[in-house]
Amino acid sequence: MTNPLGWLDEHARKREAAGLRRRLRPRPQHTGLVDLAGNDYLGLARDPRVTEAAARAAREWGGGSTGSRLVTGTTQAHVAFERELAAFVGAEAGLVFSSGYLANLGAITALAGRGDLIVSDALNHASLIDGCRLSRARVEVVGHGAVAEVRAALAERSEERAYVVTDAVFSVDGDVAPLAELAAACCEYGAVLIVDEAHGVGVFGDGGRGAVHAAGLAGSPDVVVTATLSKSLGAQGGVVLGPSAVIAHLVDTARAFIFDTGLAPAAVGAAAEALRILRAEPQLAERVRVNARALHDLAQAAALTATTPVGTVTSVLIGDPDLAVELAGLCAELGVAVGCFRPPSVPDGRSRLRLTARADLTHAELDAAGRALHAVAGRIGSVSV
Ligand code: PMP
Repeated sequence: MTNPLGWLDEHARKREAAGLRRRLRPRPQHTGLVDLAGNDYLGLARDPRVTEAAARAAREWGGGSTGSRLVTGTTQAHVAFERELAAFVGAEAGLVFSSGYLANLGAITALAGRGDLIVSDALNHASLIDGCRLSRARVEVVGHGAVAEVRAALAERSEERAYVVTDAVFSVDGDVAPLAELAAACCEYGAVLIVDEAHGVGVFGDGGRGAVHAAGLAGSPDVVVTATLSKSLGAQGGVVLGPSAVIAHLVDTARAFIFDTGLAPAAVGAAAEALRILRAEPQLAERVRVNARALHDLAQAAALTATTPVGTVTSVLIGDPDLAVELAGLCAELGVAVGCFRPPSVPDGRSRLRLTARADLTHAELDAAGRALHAVAGRIGSVSV
């Protein structure tokens, strides 16, 4: 009998040949590398105040939350953090999930269903796309940032309920969605705007209150925000922020919330401490943006094609996926860890290196980044000659 999983070898071989195969590479504890690859935007994941708060929460509440949120998995730490984060971003209420991925699945599937319309940006994060698919609503994918297409989809719909789903900040190029215009379109056509602030909270808006806050939409009755606790907040987990009625509906019906064990207390404790630090040090948000601009200027000085950062991300276009992997390796050899994005995360021929800034980058680290980017430019020059 043939092996029913025999096709996996052929599949892997083809992906290997196309330079697309993904592999896990455990991060050594102390690499000595300058971290421009992670999402620890404010440098809080390794802040002793945050790690100590995580340990304290674990000691107080346990290594795990012990159950689903509706049974035993809701501690006082969860409830207090939800209230504090909602107040910070200007939302009525908040609900913590085990990840940002699950927050998106939970929010979208609990709100949208069969017989509804979801209008989704073409470059939305995979977790938003999966939420749309799972919802069984009709999904209309519109061009990236194409407000006119959003308006047309809403205007021409036959469904009564409609949702517009978008990243606030797109993770690959770091560009920001036209949130105010999308909200205006939603308001005009009676739709709800669902915004993923994974890369917005802690970076955009007054003191890091997010891109939705910056767009003047905080507390809007028809805007629902999702976010992760794993980037600026240096922890792990996800959250939905919005009108109290939405949060109550999620508690009641969101399968990604109900059938999942509550977020570990240590993660809640870490995120709560990171939020406290962000409140006390609002300049952190500004600093990460300034450092992103510095990284961009270094890429430009090396004559590389780089996106202009509005938040944390500078994307350096490489094109060929194998070359992108090689250049990421070259950067690592020079002491700098950068992200490497290949299809399907980016379109064919648009592989790139992604540099994410941190608020706590030092001059020495920026110098190292400059040297690595010059080496990248040199290698590209020698390939294309
Ligand atoms: N949305 C966006 C835009 C993201 O970039 C990510 C994480 N990369 C997520 C959602 C998922 O969040 P989490 O990692 O907490 O599951």
